[in-house]
Amino acid sequence: MPETLVPNPSPEALRGLRVLITGAARGLGAEFAKAVIQSGARVVLADVLAPEGQALATELGERAHFVSVDLRSSASTQAMVEQAAQWLGGLDAVINNAAITNSGGVALQDLSESVWDDVMAVNVRAPWLVSKFALPFLEQSPHARIVNLSSDTALWGAPNLMAYVASKGAVMAMTRSMARELGAKGITVNAIAPGLTLVEATQYVPAHRHEHYMKGRAIPRAQVPDDLSSAVLFLLSPASGFITGQVIPINGGFVMN
Ligand code: NAD
Repeated sequence: MPETLVPNPSPEALRGLRVLITGAARGLGAEFAKAVIQSGARVVLADVLAPEGQALATELGERAHFVSVDLRSSASTQAMVEQAAQWLGGLDAVINNAAITNSGGVALQDLSESVWDDVMAVNVRAPWLVSKFALPFLEQSPHARIVNLSSDTALWGAPNLMAYVASKGAVMAMTRSMARELGAKGITVNAIAPGLTLVEATQYVPAHRHEHYMKGRAIPRAQVPDDLSSAVLFLLSPASGFITGQVIPINGGFVMN
C-alpha cells in the first residue's frame, strides 16, 4: 500500500534502506551514493568504470559495495541487478543515474547513427532494463522508489546535443508511464531534471557557457551536486510517499514550467 506523508523526515530517514545507484563511480552518482549512505542507507554502486567504482566503495566503507556492469548489455545489466539485490538482501530503491553525452557540440546533420544508438542504449533502454530486473525485488519492499535522471536540456531544447536531449525527454515520458504502471504496487517513480552542474563530466563546457547558465538563473550562482542530492534524499524518504510521476527541474530557475 502507498505510504502516508511523514512530516520533517529526520537525517535517519533512510536508515537501512537498500539502494542501487547506476553510474556511481564518479560525478553525480558518486555524490548521491555519499549522501544516501550518510543518511543511513546501504548502497550498491554500479558502473562500467571498475577501478574507480571499487576504490570509491572501499572509501565509503561497509555500507557500500561496487558491482561492475556495462549497461549497454542486457545480460550484464540483469547480472548486476541480481548481484546488487543479493548483497543488499533485497532492493528498496533504484537511482537510474548513468548516462552518456557523446553527442555534445555536434549538429544534427553530423550526428552519427552509432552515437545515437549508444546514447539511447545507455540513457533510455538501460533505465528501463534496470527497473525491469529490479521489479521483483522492489515489489517485496514496503518503501519502493525509482528515481530517474533526466536533464533540463530536454525542457529548453539545448542545440547541438540532440541525441542526449531526446534521450532525456524520453526519460521524462518513461517516468510518467512507469509511475502509472507501478503506483498500485506501492512503487513511486520520479525524475529530477538538473541544470548544468559542476562535475568532472561538465568540465569540457566552455567558461562562457557556464557564465551564460549562471546569468540565466533566478538564483545566479553555479549549480553544485549538493543542490541535487537533497532532492534525491527527499524522493527516497517516506516524506515523498505520495509523489509519483513527477519531473522535478533543479536548475536555480533557469527554466520554469
Ligand atoms: P558522469 O559522466 O560523471 O557520470 C555518468 C556515469 O555513468 C559514469 O560514472 C559512467 O562511467 C557511467 N556509465 C556510462 N556508460 C555506462 C555504461 N555503459 N555502463 C555502466 N555505467 C556507465 O556524468 P554526471 O554529470 O555525473 O551525470 C549523471 C547523471 O546526471 C546523468 O544521467 C546525466 O545525464 C545527468 N545530468 C547531469 C548534468 C550535469 O550538469 N552534470 C545535468 C543534467 C543531467
